[in-house]
Amino acid sequence: MLITEKSQQFINQEDRYGAHNYHPLPVVLSRGKGAFVWDVDGKKYFDFLSAYSAVNQGHCHPKIVKALTEQAETLCLTSRAFYNDCLGPYEEFVHSYFGYDKMLPMNSGAEAVETALKLARKWGYLRKGIPENEAIIVACEGNFHGRTITIVSVSTDPDAKKDYGPYTPGIEIIPYNDVDALERLFNEKGDKIAGFLVEPIQGEAGVFVPDEGYLKACYDLCKKHNILFVADEVQTGIARTGKLLCCDHEGIRPDIVILGKAISGGVMPVSAVLADDEVMMTIKPGQHGSTFGGFPLACKVATAALEVIKDENLAEKAERLGEIFREEMENIESPFVKLVRGKGLLNAIVIEPHNGKEAWDVCLKMAENGLLAKPTHGHIIRFAPPLVITEEQLREAIEIIKESIKTLE
Ligand SMILES: *Cc1c(COP(=O)(O)O)cnc(C)c1O
Repeated sequence: MLITEKSQQFINQEDRYGAHNYHPLPVVLSRGKGAFVWDVDGKKYFDFLSAYSAVNQGHCHPKIVKALTEQAETLCLTSRAFYNDCLGPYEEFVHSYFGYDKMLPMNSGAEAVETALKLARKWGYLRKGIPENEAIIVACEGNFHGRTITIVSVSTDPDAKKDYGPYTPGIEIIPYNDVDALERLFNEKGDKIAGFLVEPIQGEAGVFVPDEGYLKACYDLCKKHNILFVADEVQTGIARTGKLLCCDHEGIRPDIVILGKAISGGVMPVSAVLADDEVMMTIKPGQHGSTFGGFPLACKVATAALEVIKDENLAEKAERLGEIFREEMENIESPFVKLVRGKGLLNAIVIEPHNGKEAWDVCLKMAENGLLAKPTHGHIIRFAPPLVITEEQLREAIEIIKESIKTLE
């Protein structure tokens, strides 16, 4: 694809002065609205990544931006050394929205995962009675929960993990989508296991959707062994998969829910952990926190972002448009398309390399044709447009995808 001189300058600048911890597609964006973004040369694209599902409400949603700017002119940050008039209303709103007794506000997704693991351990010691320093957290192969040392300690991805040791102890890894493996581990070590950390769909792994009934069976095992079921809904939550939470598809209510990304509509880093009192009240003043966690700006932005989800029926929309998207993708007859999978508007195509072309080449071709998506794990392309996309726009985007795949054959 053509890289203009103007784009190249920005790319060079990042290359020269920024750490090389990402390998972006060579597109330099400068504006966004709804389901679209524009590059520095004014070229328009469908955004089919949505910042890893942070922008479910669409770019620069007017209601969310209004909440941001109004609060920015009033009061931004107080720290939690004092009360403010935004946090309480936000917490009550989240309580009525998701139905958990309490929330603990943080900023990034990784921080919320860390918070959930700390909560699980605290609960394990104070309520379950696990002997000091012996609590175990169970996680799944292929997971993605963020980038801190403890989180990469539960990772099985060598890129994410290697050379960051020594790792946090007290972790057991089992295969994903394998109830028997979980049951064997629980039977063997259940009395020391505090929590089972799981993504309802493994997003970063390439939108790996577990078998129907998997989450419910894991949940039931957790109940049987008095182990907390901890759902990382950072990517799958907030309407992305066609329900408010992905766990809703199986009618289960996790003991701890981890939210991030779209809880702010992609406007600022906001994350949260939800739990009932039995779990949440194990943490006492001074035992956890964050300078920015629950700051006034975040409270207003997240409230607006969650309201937009309901105002615009985005869960139902994701469900309906997702059906159309998968059906259309399955109809593509191409040597490139090996498999289509997903739920709601979190979908992926597994690409079979063909004629020396791979997923990366497909993404470059789609970008050229006006649609942005990014390969994950080399051979999988995730398709996750903002949920505000209209059916007409979706059908237009589907044509771009089909056309791009065809021209590469
Ligand atoms: C993105 C993501 C995280 C980490 O969120 P950050 O805001 O990048 O720290 C955690 N869990 C899942 C499932 C994610 O997709």
